[in-house]
Amino acid sequence: MAKASKICFVKFMSRANEILRRLKIFIPTVSTELVYNGLYQLTVAVVLSAQTTDKAVNKATPFLFSRYSDFYSLAAADYQELKEIIKTVGLAPTKAKNLIKLSRKLVTEQQGMIVPEFAYLITLPGVGRKTANVILSEGFGIPRMAVDTHVLRVAKRLALVDSPKPQLVEARLCELYPPEEWHGLHLRLVFFGRYYCKAKKPSCDLCPLPAFCHYYTNYAPEK
Ligand code: SF4
Repeated sequence: MAKASKICFVKFMSRANEILRRLKIFIPTVSTELVYNGLYQLTVAVVLSAQTTDKAVNKATPFLFSRYSDFYSLAAADYQELKEIIKTVGLAPTKAKNLIKLSRKLVTEQQGMIVPEFAYLITLPGVGRKTANVILSEGFGIPRMAVDTHVLRVAKRLALVDSPKPQLVEARLCELYPPEEWHGLHLRLVFFGRYYCKAKKPSCDLCPLPAFCHYYTNYAPEK
């Protein structure tokens, strides 16, 4: 690496580390807001959480889990009934279909268990990279960087990434930070994006990171 680009890289890494350090001070502890117990419930909750809020999912899941307690019972679920139970989370027709198909696949191929293999998880209906990464990191403690809309937005505003593509953002964040930080960083970026660095009207006055923020520099209305 040429000397100039080496200096640039070191500066960028130190900036990335400072962002994480401040985020950790600002949000000392953080955990997922999805309410679940065990891998079955986690998987179902994460699949349901696509394009909706964790709060909406948490309202629907207590009855859902009491009615269908594992992948076997969900595999045998009546589509219309399942769709009715999850109708408040949005995209209920698609999510009900996916949950039944996903459960049938796991029952047929994995004895009704979720397995800690990324390549397999993304073959399940309704499971993309983000969902698979959340299942692995949250459910199995395997370091993975899950990129959702909040992570994308905050990472872009802080100029940690220069691509709008989730897969490239995931790769970039994994380059910038060591594996032991990925899970906590994901949760902090989600929490920070959800409650402070919102898509519309972010709370820049409360933010510990304006010095690093390109959005704040260029667009923040409070300036
Ligand atoms: S300054 Fe505002 S836009 Fe920038 S990271 Fe902070 S909250 Fe988000």
